[in-house]
Amino acid sequence: MNTLLKDKKILIMGVANKWSIAWGIAQSCIEAGANIILTYQGERNLSNLKKLTADLAGISLYQCDVTQDQDIIALFHNLEEDFGVIHGLVHSIAFANKEELEGAYYNTSREGYHLAQDISSYSLVAISKYARPLMKEGGSIVTMTYLGGERVVQNYNVMGVAKAALESSVRYLSADLGPENIRINSISAGPIKTLAAQGVKGFRSILKVYEEKVPLRRTVTQGEVGDTAVFLLSPMARGITGENIHVDAGYHTMGLL
Ligand code: NAD
Repeated sequence: MNTLLKDKKILIMGVANKWSIAWGIAQSCIEAGANIILTYQGERNLSNLKKLTADLAGISLYQCDVTQDQDIIALFHNLEEDFGVIHGLVHSIAFANKEELEGAYYNTSREGYHLAQDISSYSLVAISKYARPLMKEGGSIVTMTYLGGERVVQNYNVMGVAKAALESSVRYLSADLGPENIRINSISAGPIKTLAAQGVKGFRSILKVYEEKVPLRRTVTQGEVGDTAVFLLSPMARGITGENIHVDAGYHTMGLL
């Protein structure tokens, strides 16, 4: 337990189940004293969230499908009414069709390209716009990315291109929001076995490379990503914005493996 986020209201978007990176972040935020607010997409995720949070007092749950502007507007309207202010926002959301996450990137369909960009990248822009008025006391936004946004990672394809756009959005948003004392950064996590990750063909073989070759000779955990998110959300990171922090056991430093 620490007090880095004591009494701070942190909105976390993207918990689907107990394996979700967003759930790791939620747990680290709770340990740091935050009051967390969670969003979910669809009824199945709501029942998962209810089970996950059953023992935690006072956690509010709101529905939000980020492809729907009216959902985003309603979410922040409700948060304004219910809380008046938020101090942090975690965007841990991505989606691409499974068939676009294998083979040659040039086979990406127009529809699949738009879908991946809409959910995985544009959504950060839209939610930042509506979160901004609630960050009256300043704030910190954290989004999740992967090395495939900077380098070619086999099969990551359309999602890599969406992550590149997401990382660029972080830089542009940092310039927009900085004068209001709102910071925005991304965490580039190493591979973690989640629902989304298992959609990428060959995911298991990437895990093996980590265990054998990266500097720390292991993969990273939800908790390690969660603790980095707490750092970025807290005043400890008050001088950092527009940054991308790799929590990947050192993989990004390596040349050809
Ligand atoms: P996950 O499947 O647990 O989380 C993905 C989340 O996106 C789910 O909660 C899902 O409901 C949500 N989502 C998808 N479409 C949505 C929509 N239209 N509206 C609202 N929410 C929607 O998987 P995860 O691995 O925890 O992914 C979280 C983030 O971490 C993603 O951005 C992912 O790219 C990133 N990431 C994952 C890894 C990894 O190896 N797992 C590595 C680096 C980065």
